[in-house]
Order: sequence, then C-alpha cells, then structure tokens
Amino acid sequence: MDFTIPEEIRMMCETIKRFVEEDIDPIWQKIEEDDEVPEYIVQKMRELGIFGMCVPEAYGGLGLDTLGECLIYETIGRANTSIRTRFSTNNGIGSLGILYHGTEAQKKKYLPDIASGKKTIAFALTEPGAGSDASAIKTVAERKGDHFVINGSKMFITNGAIADLVTVMALTDPQKRARGGITAFIVEKGTRGFSVGKHEKKMGLRGSTTTELNFEDCEVPVENVIGGEARIGQGFKTAMRVLDKGRLTLAAASVGMAQKALELATQYSKDRVQFGQPICQFQLIQGMLAQMATEIFAGRQMVYRTAWEKDQGKDVTMEAAMSKLYCTEMLGRVVDTALQIHGGMGYMKEFAIERMYRDARVVRIYEGSSEIQKIVIARELLK
Ligand SMILES: Cc1cc2nc3c(=O)[nH]c(=O)nc-3n(C[C@H](O)[C@H](O)[C@H](O)COP(=O)(O)OP(=O)(O)OC[C@H]3O[C@@H](n4cnc5c(N)ncnc54)[C@H](O)[C@@H]3O)c2cc1C
Repeated sequence: MDFTIPEEIRMMCETIKRFVEEDIDPIWQKIEEDDEVPEYIVQKMRELGIFGMCVPEAYGGLGLDTLGECLIYETIGRANTSIRTRFSTNNGIGSLGILYHGTEAQKKKYLPDIASGKKTIAFALTEPGAGSDASAIKTVAERKGDHFVINGSKMFITNGAIADLVTVMALTDPQKRARGGITAFIVEKGTRGFSVGKHEKKMGLRGSTTTELNFEDCEVPVENVIGGEARIGQGFKTAMRVLDKGRLTLAAASVGMAQKALELATQYSKDRVQFGQPICQFQLIQGMLAQMATEIFAGRQMVYRTAWEKDQGKDVTMEAAMSKLYCTEMLGRVVDTALQIHGGMGYMKEFAIERMYRDARVVRIYEGSSEIQKIVIARELLK
C-alpha cells in the first residue's frame, strides 16, 4: 500500500480546509437559521472545482482518483453537512451514471455543466414503496416510438428542488424488474409532466432540500436513456454501481465530521472547569477522548486502504460496504460522546455539536442503511 498524497491533492485539501474555516464556520448558524447555503458560498465551491472531482478533465472536471476524492470529502466533512450535500449529487450519485454508462454524446452534452456546477443533477431511485428494496419501484416508462412516457413518483430526493437534471430510474419491463427491466433516464427540468412535489422537513441537514419528484405523462426522448438503446433495461446495474462508489466517499466524509467533533470536544474539555480543574484532567473524560481518536484512526485507515485498492483496479464492493458501515456507525458514537463531554451546553443550539449530532444520524440510513451494508458484506463472504 502506498498512501503518498500527491502534492496537488495536499494543496487542494489545505485550500478546502481554509475555505471551511474562513467561509463556512463563521456562518454555520446562519445556514441553520435560513435553511439555505448562500449563493456566494456555492460560487466559491464552483471555483474550487469540487462539483466535478471525479469527472475526467476531458469533460471539464478535475479527474481525481478515488483516494484524492476521499481526502477532499474528509476535509469538507468538517463543515455543515449541507455543504457536502450541495455538491455531492453532481460529483457522485447524480452524475456517475452518465460517467460510467453514458454515450459519448451524453457525456459531452451534460458533464461539463455538471462538473463546473453550472447545473445541478439529482438522483431519483427511492419511492414510497421502494427504499432498501430499490427493485420494487413502481415508476414506469412506456416506450412510444422514439420516446418514453414516464409516470410515477419519487421521494426523499436530495437537491430535487434545485436540480436542472435528474437521473431517474423507471420500470421498462415490469416482469424483469432488476434483471433487465429497469432503465436509467436523464430528465431535464422544464420537461412537460415533470414537477417538484412536497419538501420534507428534516431532523437535520438544514440548508439542503429533500423533495418528492412527480412524473405525469412525462415524455423523454430515447436519446435520454443513459447509454442509449443498448442500455435499455440496464438501469438497475447502473444504480448499484453508482451507490457502490458513494459508500466510500460517505465513509470519508464521516471520518472528517468525526474528527471535527473530536477537536471540538477536546477543546471544550480543556476550557471547562469543574471541581477546580479542567474536565480534561479527569480520566473518565480522557478515556472518552482516547476512544474517539482510536475509532477515527481505524475508520480513516479503512477508507484510505479501500480507496487505494479501488485505484489499483480491485473490486472493493465488500470493503466499501465495510467502510460505510464502520465509519457511519463510528460517527454516531463519536458525536454522541463529544456531546456528552459538552454537558448541558452540548444540548444547546449555540454549540455546533448539537447540529452535528442531528446531521450525523442520517448517514446510517441513506445510500444503503447499516443493515443493507451488512447484507452486502455477508453476501460477498458467502459467495
Ligand atoms: C435525507 C435523505 C436524503 C435522501 N436522498 C436520496 C436521494 O437523493 N435519492 C434517492 O433515490 N434516495 C434518497 N434517500 C432515500 C434513502 O436512500 C432511503 O431512505 C434508504 O435507502 C432507506 O430506505 P427507506 O427509508 O425506505 O427505509 P426502509 O427500506 O423501509 O427500511 C426501514 C428499516 O428496515 C431495515 N431493513 C430494510 N430491509 C432490510 C433487510 N432486508 N434486512 C434487515 N433490515 C432491513 C432498514 O435498514 C431500516 O432500518 C434519501 C433519504 C434521506 C433520509
């Protein structure tokens, strides 16, 4: 294993860390209150190039390898989760389908605007009756000559309200379902029959929209099937490959967030005096700090090793699932302990740890819950 970090990635991580500390941290409460990431911050994110980290340079992206991308996700994980969420659909679940299986014409048409952040792309798989069991979707796409007519509804779609483009999974053969009956489409905002529905009110992730998307006799041309005619019916495979990659970057972001929680708790334990001394002098508190630091160290090694192996061309399905499972569960334990170290202050909205505690909860649920990761790991073990 060689985890040598290339100079340009190291410099980019430093720039992003500065961006988080100088531009995001001072306004984290404003993002919470307004439930919105200000446009000038989104513009800075565009300038940093983080909307197109994994998009090849030929299509206007940075063309980073997985390790480089994970290092940047780890760094940005230190900020409000809505910052990562704002760019992550462009950089991940929304765009990867086009990147992996799109035709050359689709890549040329869509990827440059996705990579620059000029356009936002969302990923729509989940439905009221199809969450963990994604193959149970009911949204249908019926072929009529040179176009498809989509009918159905998607829920919990990240960036759904602001998306210019959406990768939509729909049934094209209800008999075959996951085995050749689901197709991935690119639907553009403004297409007749496509509308944004209910906005969810969430526990955390303030600053990020999560919405329902509706399709009512929504006509899309055959050229909007990701991969064209040849990939009609292959959308489930596309979706699963896309989610495979997302597991690792989410694990990396969880490590970054856990590290930030540890730093906040360490500082608080040095500042807070009880029984005549800073609480960091108590061995019970020291034990908490040591446990958190050790678990973060373990999670980080899992992410780096899996990313490195992926970059060597190895199939990392099991390792990516293990990394997502461990790092997101670890984050849950770390933010809980960090809040405990803050005592009553940790329960108050003026302290960032209160927001982190709420934001951290979702990573064990989306992009494959912890239970689903265990199923993936066991399936690989029993192969
Ligand atoms: C904030 C947020 C953003 C999201 N963004 C998107 C998005 O952009 N695009 C998108 O398509 N989806 C998105 N989702 C949906 C997300 O991927 C699903 O919520 C997730 O896959 C779980 O599905 P579910 O909520 O229907 O839970 P369910 O599938 O109903 O699961 C309920 C519980 O049962 C468990 N369970 C289910 N099946 C099994 C099993 N076989 N064995 C053991 N336990 C099981 C689960 O782990 C969970 O604990 C988002 C969700 C949230 C909360």
